[in-house]
Amino acid sequence: MSLTRISRFGFVNAYLVEEEDGLTLVDTALPGSTKAIQAAAEKLGRPIVRIALTHAHGDHIGSLDALAKALPGVEVSISERDARLLAKNKTTDPGEPPEAKMRGSYPGAKTAPSRTLNPGDRVGSLEVIAAPGHTPGHIAFLDTRDNTLIAGDAFSSIGGVSTSAKANPLFPFPVIATWHKPTALESARTLRALDPARLAVGHGPIVDAPGAAMDKAIEKAARP
Ligand SMILES: [Zn+2]
Repeated sequence: MSLTRISRFGFVNAYLVEEEDGLTLVDTALPGSTKAIQAAAEKLGRPIVRIALTHAHGDHIGSLDALAKALPGVEVSISERDARLLAKNKTTDPGEPPEAKMRGSYPGAKTAPSRTLNPGDRVGSLEVIAAPGHTPGHIAFLDTRDNTLIAGDAFSSIGGVSTSAKANPLFPFPVIATWHKPTALESARTLRALDPARLAVGHGPIVDAPGAAMDKAIEKAARP
C-alpha cells in the first residue's frame, strides 16, 4: 500500500500517497499540523510535491498556507467549486438545491490553488471522483493502482463507517457540517459502486474491504 495516514489528535486525518516523483499530500488537517505532516514525509524519505484537497472545510485546509510556504513550488489542487470557498467566496451556482446551506467552518486560505480539478482528472495515480454533498464541490480520490479510496468527509469511520448524510451519534460532526444530505447520500452510493479495496476517510481509521460496511451505512442513511 502506498498510503500513509497522518492522524491529528486521533480524529483528523491527512494522507501521504507515494508516487515515483515524490509524495501527494491529501488534505492538510487543522492549523498547526505542518510539523507532523513534514515529519511523516521525512520518515518516508520523499518530498511532498503535490497537495490535493478533498474540500474547503477548516479541518482539511488548516495547514495549507503554512505548508505552501514551506514547500515552494508545490502543486495545490482542489475542485473548481470548492476553490471558491477556499477564496471565501460563498456565492451559489444555478441549479444547486435551494435548501442546501453552507455549514461547518470555511476559514479560507491565502494560498490560491495552482490547479482546479474536475471529475476524471488525475493527480499522480489518483483519479478525481465527484462526491458532492458534504460540501458543494467535495471530491474523492481513487488510487488507480490498488483501488484505495480517499473519501474525505463523504464517509467517516469513527464509531463505525457512516455517510455524511445521516447523523452518527458517536461522531456527529461531519453530518452537522454537511451542505446537502440527499446529495451526500447519492455520492456515497457513487463511491460504493467503485468497489474500493480500502476506505481512507477524513475522520477515523482506514477500513480494509469496506464494501459491506459502506452498504450498511448507505442503508441506514436512506432510511426515513
Ligand atoms: Zn468536512
